[in-house]
Amino acid sequence: MINIKSLTKKQVVQYFIDIGEKTFKGKQVFKWLWQKYVLDFDEMTDISKKLREKLKSEFVIEYPKILKKQISKDGTIKYLLELNDGVTIETVWIPSGRRNTICISTQAGCAMGCKFCYTAKQELIRNLAFFEIVDQIVIIMIDLKKRPTNIVTMGMGEPLKNLKNLEEAIEIINDEIGIGIAARKITVSTVGFVPGIYELAKYPKQIKLSVSLNATNDKIRDYIMPINKIYPIEKLLYSVKHFIKVKRKRVTFEYVLIKGVNDSKDDADRLIELTKDIECKINIIPLNISINDIDSPFKPIDSKTVEIFTKWMMKGHKAVTIRKSKGRDIDAACGELRIEVEGKNGKG
Ligand code: SAH
Repeated sequence: MINIKSLTKKQVVQYFIDIGEKTFKGKQVFKWLWQKYVLDFDEMTDISKKLREKLKSEFVIEYPKILKKQISKDGTIKYLLELNDGVTIETVWIPSGRRNTICISTQAGCAMGCKFCYTAKQELIRNLAFFEIVDQIVIIMIDLKKRPTNIVTMGMGEPLKNLKNLEEAIEIINDEIGIGIAARKITVSTVGFVPGIYELAKYPKQIKLSVSLNATNDKIRDYIMPINKIYPIEKLLYSVKHFIKVKRKRVTFEYVLIKGVNDSKDDADRLIELTKDIECKINIIPLNISINDIDSPFKPIDSKTVEIFTKWMMKGHKAVTIRKSKGRDIDAACGELRIEVEGKNGKG
């Protein structure tokens, strides 16, 4: 039977029109699914019994399963979720002051192959369907009985390689009879897949863009992010400027700071130079190395180096932030939890 949540709002409405019902019935059902998260058709109290029986004969309501939940001392909660075909993904709840961010996955695994990233070790399994992207938020809201203020696509996968599903998901996340989160509170983070940035610029909603730059010349970026060999820094920045022009919105450059790779004064100077004409914020992320990763080609970065690099940046750039490491004690970097569990099952 079909999972009714695999229907878009348009399709739900169309279904009800096709069976001779009014448009608003479809909207009511959509609301039960995406605003009230019912587990059963019988909870849809403003839908007649006859209609509920018809729905039950054609559809089921499915949710992902929580396979594992790890709670960090700092409040970060990492979930390993199982989708209906047995594929597993990670989603993280990150509280920070008044802000509660949910970090969602857009793919199971990833094909981008960034050298420092744990999801990359698992290769791409498949794209997530739009409802599987939204369900990550829903399942956490049910579990914690709390709402997120912000959504970022910094879990597993490259969102711009699954843009159609992502946009469909954003429609529901943003919908006032769906999750109801403002578009400006939703950040799409990309490895720098240039055609996807041009595509996203055409998407009318005012979502935020974050670009994982991570290096300041093509030699270093080629080494840590293979996508750079196809879309080098100059092309990437050109597409980012286009995005800013169309959207009239500042972007964020993520910069994963890796000891001895991209942390020198020259790197800082180049990063300032590269971004000086771009309306942007720079977010420095100290590289996270899993405690289980004994073969890492990278060394842990010390707080002194992070501090010095940040000072150099602040001298040359107006908007620099450091991402505080969250949930270190629970394998914070996305991809790690999945590796651990799959590894134990002998699958990964
Ligand atoms: N593919 C998208 C989204 C997933 S990665 C992207 O590249 O943006 C989300 C962010 O986590 C990126 O900025 C990425 O550079 C960063 N990241 C990946 N592995 C990391 C690690 N081990 N430590 C710190 N940041 C990491």
